[in-house]
Amino acid sequence: MRAQESSPIIQVRNLEKTYRTARGALTLFQGLDLTIATGELVAIVGQSGAGKSTLLHILGALDAPTAGTVHCASINVATLNAREAAVFRNREIGYVWQFHYLLPEFSAVENVAMPLLARGNSRREALDTASNWLREVDLEGRSEHRPGELSGGEQQRVALARALVGNPRLLLADEPTGDLDETTAGRVFDLLERLHLTHGLTSLLVTHNLDLAARCTRTLRLEGGRLHAMDFPSKAGLHPGARADRS
Ligand code: ADP
Repeated sequence: MRAQESSPIIQVRNLEKTYRTARGALTLFQGLDLTIATGELVAIVGQSGAGKSTLLHILGALDAPTAGTVHCASINVATLNAREAAVFRNREIGYVWQFHYLLPEFSAVENVAMPLLARGNSRREALDTASNWLREVDLEGRSEHRPGELSGGEQQRVALARALVGNPRLLLADEPTGDLDETTAGRVFDLLERLHLTHGLTSLLVTHNLDLAARCTRTLRLEGGRLHAMDFPSKAGLHPGARADRS
């Protein structure tokens, strides 16, 4: 596990994002600030179209801000060129989406190994590490299965293993349980929370599931182009999934 650091791992200041579209400018964020300390598990909620995915894309150097500074894992990602952004993503960021995006023609263990192969590790080393990660997500018996031979929950477990196989500091999860039934969603969140804690990660989770949001360290609502702190005053009562021992 990594040591806790006092400086924030994410520091966004005065973020602006404007898309130029055929029908004019669409400004999503203006003056958006965000500070996240190492080790936090933060939920981001908000209406569809509020810009939650775009915010994760900017933090993960998949999209560029129009203005503002975006310090993420000590790097101002707003200044990276395409090659630097690819290296940054491979080293520092684990990403999971609502859909698993596993490659259908490769086995589970080969899918998990992909980020290490992209990094230049030997095939043997990459597959060994990937096997260990499949064990971490309780899928050691499924390593030779292709994605189409796995259930939705199992596919997301493989996607989580692939996101974390490269030992990133930051996990960005965009509705990772959005395509799953309630029970499976709860199990995938349990796993995400366990990996978050045991690997000393800092994690941002976009979700529309308020029960899961209530189990995070903090919940922020994206509305009107800014983030607003959201309280769950009677967490335990309103949200059965909430744990009384988490603040
Ligand atoms: P959310 O994740 O909160 O549902 P998104 O970040 O996906 O919201 O999208 C926010 C808004 O930005 C939507 O109205 C979407 O249509 C628009 N948008 C997203 N990407 C682009 C793009 N590349 N060009 C133009 N508009 C975009």
